[in-house]
Amino acid sequence: MSTILTWSRIVEFATTGNPKPARIIEKTESEWRAQLTPEQFYVTRQHGTERAFSSELCSRFEPGIYACVCCNTLLFDSAEKFDSGTGWPSFTQPIDPSAVAYNLDVSHGMQRIEAVCNTCRAHLGHVFPDGPAPSRLRYCMNAVALKKQEAAPTAPAKAPTQTELATFGGGCFWCTEAVFQQLRGVHAVVSGYCGGHVDNPTYKEVCGGQTGHAEVIQVTFDPQEIRYADLVAIHLATHDPTTANRQGADVGTQYRSAIFTHSPEQAEIAQAVMEQLAPAFDAPLTTELSPLATFYPAEAYHQNYYNTNPGAGYCQAVISPKLQKARKLLQDRLK
Ligand SMILES: [Zn+2]
Repeated sequence: MSTILTWSRIVEFATTGNPKPARIIEKTESEWRAQLTPEQFYVTRQHGTERAFSSELCSRFEPGIYACVCCNTLLFDSAEKFDSGTGWPSFTQPIDPSAVAYNLDVSHGMQRIEAVCNTCRAHLGHVFPDGPAPSRLRYCMNAVALKKQEAAPTAPAKAPTQTELATFGGGCFWCTEAVFQQLRGVHAVVSGYCGGHVDNPTYKEVCGGQTGHAEVIQVTFDPQEIRYADLVAIHLATHDPTTANRQGADVGTQYRSAIFTHSPEQAEIAQAVMEQLAPAFDAPLTTELSPLATFYPAEAYHQNYYNTNPGAGYCQAVISPKLQKARKLLQDRLK
């Protein structure tokens, strides 16, 4: 499975949380000042931007690795470097999916995604969805934030974590998201819509029940830590898969029980787990098992809903009890 980062994954990281770094380095402002040149400090610690075409790094493409100027973490391989013509060194991928972290940046009246070193939070630059294939990403970096390692690095880059995706519908995504966020081995959960017949549906349209979409969550997980079969079993155990188009008081096709599979292997596993668990339920399973069609991330205010709105009525009345039940059931799998 490819670990190439694409724009939707970058947006997901920026809105719902970044991959865990292998290590974290924190220093005080005066420690950074002592270690860096004034320009390096301005760019990396104060979110500065160097002048375009101010570095010869823009036009150098010989083999080598670029590290964070603050903490030496390896960030980019020159094999992923390209000439963007912008005047800033540009890359299509970081050296490792967890090397760089992403933040929404609404400064200067623009909505952009900031790229920072995931180890020390040094500001590196921004990421844009207008780079070359296959990733179509452009990491527009400040040369002053990078340090070229001429020789092969002594410490090889950490093997990238091979994460996988799983997509489940189990009623209101505020609830299912809150459950899966608790699991060890789950790196990110994005609420969204899947399985309908309208492009780019809004929450209002989906709730109207006319678009055919189910409210779903898309889970990024590390199969070394939690297996897909376990996720399917947890999904079935933490919603009611026997009530057609309904979860408790929530009624409508958007609340249907569903598993959207990302590969024939996932379909096989999900089918087997459903058959295995079916006898444990009082009624036949109504869960839709379909290959994943397009997944549309939900509006930003739906993401991480329970954690950002703990006082909301629905969270207290519906999600908290569900979560307590799920935590009890899944004690040995919690983060
Ligand atoms: Zn760093």
